[in-house]
Formats: sequence, C-alpha cells, structure tokens
Amino acid sequence: TKHFPVRRKLRDLFSRNPASVHAVDDVSFELRRGQVTALVGESGSGKSTVARLLAQLYPRTGGDILLHGRPTKVRGGRRFRAYVRRVQLIFQDPFASLNPVHTVRYHLTRALRIHGNAGKTAADLERALGELLTRVSLTPPERYLDKFPHELSGGQRQRVAIARALGADPEALLADEPVSMLDVSIRLGILNLLRDLKERLNLAILYITHDIASARYFADETMVMYAGRMVEGGDSETVTQNPAHPYTRLLIESAPDPDRIAGIADATVKDRGNGEPPSLIKPPAGCRFNPRCPHAMPRCTVDLPPRLEIGDRPGHWAACWLYDPETVAKESPGSLAG
Ligand code: SF4
Ligand code: MG
Repeated sequence: TKHFPVRRKLRDLFSRNPASVHAVDDVSFELRRGQVTALVGESGSGKSTVARLLAQLYPRTGGDILLHGRPTKVRGGRRFRAYVRRVQLIFQDPFASLNPVHTVRYHLTRALRIHGNAGKTAADLERALGELLTRVSLTPPERYLDKFPHELSGGQRQRVAIARALGADPEALLADEPVSMLDVSIRLGILNLLRDLKERLNLAILYITHDIASARYFADETMVMYAGRMVEGGDSETVTQNPAHPYTRLLIESAPDPDRIAGIADATVKDRGNGEPPSLIKPPAGCRFNPRCPHAMPRCTVDLPPRLEIGDRPGHWAACWLYDPETVAKESPGSLAG
C-alpha cells in the first residue's frame, strides 16, 4: 500500500488526517522465476508506483515485500541489500536513464563493479562486458562499448539499459512500460529479447503496460489494476480471452485491435464515454469501479468486493460482486454476466 500526502488547503497542514492520494491499496501478487507477469492498467492506475515500491525506491505505507518468502522491511539491512541487487528496474525512457556524458562501457562497468561482478583483472572485466552486450544482442560488443547514448538508436539504448540491469545478476526485472517510448517497429524485438532472457537466465519479469493486447502476447500471467487496486488476475490467455471483471472488459473493448500482436499499434486506452477513473484522494466507497460500471448493484457502492474465483480456470479471479452468487441472487436476480 502506498498513499502520498497532498496538501490541498492550508487547514490540511494542521489536520490530523491530511488528505492523501491512495495510489496503491492492498496490491498483492507473486513473481516467479521463468515467468512474465503483466500488470495492466490505464495511466494513473498505480502500476508505476507498484514498480517503484518493488524496486524499494520509496517506503511503503503498509504491507511488505518478500524475497523467497522473507520480509525485506529493514532498509539498509542485509536482506534489503540482497533484495535491491536481485530485483532490477528498467525504465520507460532509456535515454533518460542513461547518463549522456558517459559511454556504454562506463555504464556497464559501473553496474558490474557495484554488484561485485567485474572480476579481478582487466581481462575479466572485458569478458564480462562482452557477455552483457552479447546477451542483449549488441554484437560485436566492440562496436558498442565506446559509444555514447546519443550515438545509439532508442532500441539500442533500451538494450544497454537491460544489459546494465543484467550486470547485477538479478533474479527479477521490473520493466515499466519498456517499449512504449520506442518506435513501433522495434517494440517486438525488445519484448522478444526480454522473453528470451526470461528463459535463458530463468528471470522473473514484471511487465508493466497499458496495452492489454501485448500482455496476451508476451506474459504468462496477467493482472489488471484499476484506481490503485487489483481487479482481476489469472493466466494471460484466460484474462484476455475471457475477461471476467467489467473493467477488464472495457479495457479490451476499447483497445484498438485486441488481436494484433504486441505493441505494433500505439495503444492507449480510449475512454468510450463511460467516464473517467475516480479521484484517488477520495476514492468511491465499495468497488472503485462502481461509478462507471454498467452492472453496479447497491452493494457495490458499500462493500469492497473480495477476490472471487471465477471457476473456469484455476487461478482466475476477479474482485467483483458479480461472482458472488449470494449477492447476485439478493440484489440483481438474473444479471450474472456471461
Ligand atoms: Fe461492477 Fe459491482 Fe463488479 Fe464493481 S463489484 S465491477 S461495481 S458489478
Ligand atoms: Mg507509468
């Protein structure tokens, strides 16, 4: 959970309960090695905040992050440091994440040294640098090592950023919209590279995107966020082909072409007149989607829906009262969406 304080009015300064943005509430999921997990949502849904929390870039308001089942609570502690090395973040904009005055060699050497992977001799270091660039298909490495970021294409820069993350010898990569700033024609190449690394290095990958069609193509598991909460999760095929939550359905209906392959079109979730995501300073009571939901029942404006198993495929769930037979029978006979 992450709430950011906001001061809208002077009196909030003196208030015991100052206003806060409920950016992420009760988000919980597991990343596994050898698996890509997509976190899908509109901008402002809290997905980047989740990535930054997982990268331990700022403290959380509540909850914990476990590595191999063990908490990482203590900042600066041994487990915390191990975690920060094992879990690497890749940013949306590779140009902003690389320092323009330094070469590829500098960036990668620094990552290898910080994480103790540079070896003992100059030859060890050279070998490690060559391996990193080869892993991200920038070959021959000598062609790229002494280049500056502006001498590379956007795709090559993102490959360097990925190589730098690999310099830590991580177990997990957190990729926050890793292709959305890139030219449409090279997006697929970067996603395929990540998938290939997942397999070869047995990485856990969190793929954060607003593009649910690319989640189907690229991710093993897909989770959907709305207004700071998770609303649906399951294997990608099920969630994208048989979405259960009314919000996921809206997301898929409003994607430009749900069947196209990842990232080929510039996808943004177009609102089709069903309103805007709610304010996260005072989120709606009950289900946060209730002001926009065509199936909303009285209970939806009062009680927060729990995760309910859908039952068609194991592990498929939605946080929606439509999947609670008792609620439906009482409040809205006969309306269970098929
Ligand atoms: Fe709609 Fe109610 Fe389900 Fe929320 S819980 S998505 S308001 S039906
Ligand atoms: Mg974002």
